[in-house]
Amino acid sequence: MTTLNEFSSCVTQYDPQALPVTAAQAIVREWATPVTAIEHVPLHEALDRVLAQDIVSPCNVPAHDNSAMDGYAFQGAALGAQGGTVELSVAGKALAGHPFNGPVGLSACVRVMTGASLPQGCDTVVPQELVTRVGETIRFGTNEVRAGANRRLAGEDLARGSAALRAGRILRPSDLGLIASLGIAEVPVRRRLRVAFFSTGDELRSLGESLDPGCVYDSNRHTLFAMLRRLNIDPLDLGVVRDHPEALEKALRNAAASADVVLTSGGVSVGEADLTKQLLQTFGDVAFWSLAMRPGRPLAFGRVWSGERPGVGLPALFFGLPGNPVAVMVTFYQIVREALLVMSGATAQPVPLIQATSSEPIRKRAGRTEYQRGVARRNARGQWQVTPTGSQSSGVLSSMSEANCFIVLAHERSDVSVGESVDIMLFDGLI
Ligand code: AMP
Ligand code: MG
Repeated sequence: MTTLNEFSSCVTQYDPQALPVTAAQAIVREWATPVTAIEHVPLHEALDRVLAQDIVSPCNVPAHDNSAMDGYAFQGAALGAQGGTVELSVAGKALAGHPFNGPVGLSACVRVMTGASLPQGCDTVVPQELVTRVGETIRFGTNEVRAGANRRLAGEDLARGSAALRAGRILRPSDLGLIASLGIAEVPVRRRLRVAFFSTGDELRSLGESLDPGCVYDSNRHTLFAMLRRLNIDPLDLGVVRDHPEALEKALRNAAASADVVLTSGGVSVGEADLTKQLLQTFGDVAFWSLAMRPGRPLAFGRVWSGERPGVGLPALFFGLPGNPVAVMVTFYQIVREALLVMSGATAQPVPLIQATSSEPIRKRAGRTEYQRGVARRNARGQWQVTPTGSQSSGVLSSMSEANCFIVLAHERSDVSVGESVDIMLFDGLI
């Protein structure tokens, strides 16, 4: 068994005292192994689940060449020379779901509606507004339409035997429609990842409890619950654990026994680290990092087991997040999220960064990546502009609620002046 320390010391830029975000992400990515179990679920339950196998198209979609317009279908060969006029007799009609059966001669055409199968031999559709119809005859200029126009080809959307969707995809509304268009009613998905989490701290009180002097309500568990649910992960809330070695040990082992991943918040900063450190080293393989990142400097990462020492009992990946509420969210999104997606079996996609100009000066120290909270909007000229929310303290959770993006200030960057370009990561997307 390679230990985390053996492994991570080989990563470029490894420095547990000031670990660059990219190095931390690289280590975490290596240690995240996807769950393997597959479930077959009805189509509607597949939304937001991770596709476990390629969906191979059992048929062509559309199944037949069909018309893209309301008009008249005919053989393109009838067009003849440019600049002339064609006259065709209407042999019948075809509607979507009601094909025209029978041959269509070179001098004939068939009235077709959008989606109607093209009659045998017909490869071209002239839109109805381009023809003059007199009785059962139509006439139009040969310049109006090219041979093969306004035809949707069989298999143009999906060809039989090709992979319509690849394993690892997180299924979206269009994917459900696409799977349905293949006549498939059940979808193979990975089982949901199970993530156990608890908060640590003697000062924490749960909802419904009275707030004694010096205490705060535990908000991290609720934020974590919500962030996990958004990733369609099974959250397992293990409550608040006191800053006490035995209580902590029991909670960690219990968490490892019941989940794929264990997340904790609090107790990993200097001062409290030693206690957690000793404890985790006895039955886990955990590194305590000081990330070159703000907020979110202290972070513990590794594996824990449900047994009394490493390698004994059931394993789980472990993230000891900082206690400050904003730091919890930032480390979750920047360090933990990708690992959870990989473990869920998803092909992780990089989160897009958009360039925006800063409407305020921003203080930034080179040598760490900062994730400030910002409000981005497009100005009258259509350019993105971003304003940092007031307080950037890692304890001020309202800054996350107020913001609609992270302002991502790269490792090497220093102070930003007004009008300078910065990267932003928007919180919300369309689908
Ligand atoms: P710690 O990392 O345990 O020293 O905690 C850092 C700060 O975050 C302290 O002010 C804690 O009171 C606060 N904190 C820790 N855990 C939570 C939590 N679950 N909910 C709200 N605040 C917390
Ligand atoms: Mg604490």
